[in-house]
Amino acid sequence: MKQVSILGCTGSIGTQSLDVCEKANYQVHTLCAHRNITLLEQQARKFSPKRVIVTDEAAAAQLKISLADTNIPVLSGFDALLEAVQDPSQDVIINSLMGVLGLLPTVKALEAGNMVALANKETLVAGGKLVTNLAKEKNMTLVPIDSEHSAIFQCLQGNHREQVEKLIITASGGPFFGKTREELVGIKKEQALKHPNWSMGAKITIDSSTLANKALEFIEAMWLFDMPPEQIDVVVHRQSIIHSLVEYVDGSVMAQLGAPDMRVPIQYALTWPERMPSPAKKLNLLSCQPLTFHKPDMETFTCLKDGIAAAKMGGLYPCIFNAANEQAVELFLQDKIAYLDIFKAVHESLSHFTNASDYSTVEDVLAQDKETRAFVRSLFAL
Ligand code: MG
Repeated sequence: MKQVSILGCTGSIGTQSLDVCEKANYQVHTLCAHRNITLLEQQARKFSPKRVIVTDEAAAAQLKISLADTNIPVLSGFDALLEAVQDPSQDVIINSLMGVLGLLPTVKALEAGNMVALANKETLVAGGKLVTNLAKEKNMTLVPIDSEHSAIFQCLQGNHREQVEKLIITASGGPFFGKTREELVGIKKEQALKHPNWSMGAKITIDSSTLANKALEFIEAMWLFDMPPEQIDVVVHRQSIIHSLVEYVDGSVMAQLGAPDMRVPIQYALTWPERMPSPAKKLNLLSCQPLTFHKPDMETFTCLKDGIAAAKMGGLYPCIFNAANEQAVELFLQDKIAYLDIFKAVHESLSHFTNASDYSTVEDVLAQDKETRAFVRSLFAL
């Protein structure tokens, strides 16, 4: 029986991953959450994992008491997580942590030779070179969970990478599709948190509304599939039925379609290269709305334009893009800055750091991340 660990088990991807594990009869190995111990306790009782990890120390102490009647060990802190990902007795680690925090656990897991299924795109955006080099060195495939990348990964099966002409990433366009810059003034978080097609965590839902998510996915695709930015396109597809496409040199375009349900890419990451029945709703082509395609509006949604520019600049610029965005979204969710300030934070950060051309260690990446966050806070006198 496959042993699956889930980092970020109480989040949207985490809970859906547990759903997939239950239906597929996989054994849950390690569960890790930050501090939602109410849900983590229920999950631990239901799935009897080998261990649970709570990164918040106070929450861990509380969960230890709540689970005292079981024999499930409760570990606390980020170091316990870094140690757990190196345990050789797990078959795959789903990394659905939020933000650049996911970088070190991915690196440690790969170093130990453990397979990682990646839902944490910030890992590849900030430290793509390190992570992909490490995977190559260990002869491991990084299996994507992000729906667009799972689609591309599926369209690449059985084909040759060197015959790929272009990757085409689809974007829903988010809740503010068609709006002008002026209409984005004064957007409140309640409005930005309403995604038309996908139900996801708060950070990624805001990212989808600003199109920063698509920029992160653009960079993620560069690293996952070893593609230069010139060979990646973004197309707005409002219905989220086509999850992404691959164009080959002969002009053939392969697409992956399906109802928008994250349990499909999660399950594929766990069963690849095999498939198995899924609880997700089947796609009915006859009841689909007409499928439409638009050019993304990068003049309004400048996060996408800036993210692609960061991708082309390379080095630490994607890390700066990601850190500025993460910090700004956090401040927006705390009602400390306005919606358009997210765009401003990203843009200003990329022009502020003029000498961020390359990096060689995780420490370089995390130092740049920290410096960028401080710069963003200083922009708004926070
Ligand atoms: Mg996605």
